[in-house]
Amino acid sequence: MRNDKTSSQPADESPFGEITESSFKKEVLLNDTENLLKALSSLRQSENKYRLLSNQLEAILDHLPGLVFYKDLNNRYIRVNKYVADAHKKEKVELEGVSLYDLYPKEQAEAYYQDDLAVLKGGAAKLNIEEPWQTDEGLRWVNTSKIPFVDENGTPAGIIGISMDITERKHSEERINDLIRRLEKEKEQAQEHALTDGLTGIANRRHFDITLQGEIDRLKRSKSPLSLIMLDIDFFKKFNDRYGHVAGDHCLKYVARVVKENVGRASDFVARYGGEEFAVVMPDTKTRGAQIVAERIRQAVAHLSIDLNGSGTCNQVRVSLGVVTVYPGQSESYEKIVDLADMALYRAKLNGRNRYEVAVHDTGPATPLEETSGFIELFWHEDFNSGNSLIDGQHKKLFKFSSQLLSALSGGSPQVECLLLIDKVLQETAQHFYDEENLLRIHRYPLIDEHRQIHLGLLAKAGDLSAKFKHGQLTLGELFTFLANDIIWHHMHVEDRKFFAYL
Ligand code: GH3
Ligand code: MG
Ligand code: MG
Repeated sequence: MRNDKTSSQPADESPFGEITESSFKKEVLLNDTENLLKALSSLRQSENKYRLLSNQLEAILDHLPGLVFYKDLNNRYIRVNKYVADAHKKEKVELEGVSLYDLYPKEQAEAYYQDDLAVLKGGAAKLNIEEPWQTDEGLRWVNTSKIPFVDENGTPAGIIGISMDITERKHSEERINDLIRRLEKEKEQAQEHALTDGLTGIANRRHFDITLQGEIDRLKRSKSPLSLIMLDIDFFKKFNDRYGHVAGDHCLKYVARVVKENVGRASDFVARYGGEEFAVVMPDTKTRGAQIVAERIRQAVAHLSIDLNGSGTCNQVRVSLGVVTVYPGQSESYEKIVDLADMALYRAKLNGRNRYEVAVHDTGPATPLEETSGFIELFWHEDFNSGNSLIDGQHKKLFKFSSQLLSALSGGSPQVECLLLIDKVLQETAQHFYDEENLLRIHRYPLIDEHRQIHLGLLAKAGDLSAKFKHGQLTLGELFTFLANDIIWHHMHVEDRKFFAYL
């Protein structure tokens, strides 16, 4: 018997198993469902994962201390973080689809939009733009980065923006910048004050020292002369005594202005040397030019009408001036130049004030006064003492300088040294006479007017002798007679003794 299993198989049964069409369909259906369920589960998983990520991202963005937003191509928010929503006092969803034109003033919304368009056109992120941000609470500052984003087809879809609030930093920066500006201004002012005279507003002594030294250094290299004028207000003490110190200060300001107005060139430099003394440094100026300027200043001051703060005006102010010029090759020091100008100024005082005098340089050994051998000295005698310490001190000083002068002249010292000593003696004599007259006035010495006339006569004679020396016409004998006989013997020993009893 043939075991023909196949013959007994139903037609729809597979020869390979028990699969029938219906079972196959069932099988496929089962498989599909299984796959579908699997796919569904995987979809759910990835959806959960996506949701989790999205929530995480949202949480991160919401806690960022700055604005994060997506915008479409029409300046409308697609999505914003909590910071943006809070800034507009809205919920996040409420801002979705809202145009910036509805949130900001037109110009600002437009500015944001134009900026977006520029970023989109450039196709690259624009980072760290510092820009103002107008809020309901006032102006704030943000640091914004804008990144263009594209859809799945690569077509631009909008802008991602991140703006960090930098208002506090900006304020700190502004405070620091303000501080820097203030410090720089203070530094500038301090530098200016260090070189400016507080009362008159012109250059001060320090500035003068720097300028004159600079010009002297330049003189060594240049071929042009340098002139200096020193000027001093005449009888300024009396002005102060009469009108008061406030008027005196006022007067100093007037004189400073007049001096400044009467120098000719931009390179001329005017300074307050100290007290009621001023100086003019004139580069590239010969004696003649300096004399013209000195005379112009003298006249301008003499024509001044000084306002005395409501109590009238004063047109009595006068100045005396000393002029010195240094020519290339004359290597004079700062001290020497100032000394020469000072000496000339002092001579102007002695020669009657309200005038200028020109300094005489050392031009070699002094003209011999007389053939002489040895030195001449003057010795102080106890008999000369008046008992008044001021008078005795000044008398002794006069002795010392007179003695030095006679020794210098008889010893053939250079002319400039002798001139300095002559000026020194004249200066001491004038000061002494002035103080002595004040003292006699205080002690009511009855012959004061007579004594003052003698002083004036002696000062005039001293001025003449000084001028004679400069012209090489002074003899040692003449000077000796004047110092030893006229001043020391006749005046100090005879005339002065008359008032000793009144002191
Ligand atoms: P001379 O003609 O010999 O120069 O006489 P003088 O009185 O001007 O000279 P003296 O040196 O005896 O006096 C100078 C005066 O200048 C004394 C002082 O009170 C005054 N003085 C100096 N500086 C200032 C200042 O800044 N303001 C005022 N108001 N006076 C000043
Ligand atoms: Mg003076
Ligand atoms: Mg004076």
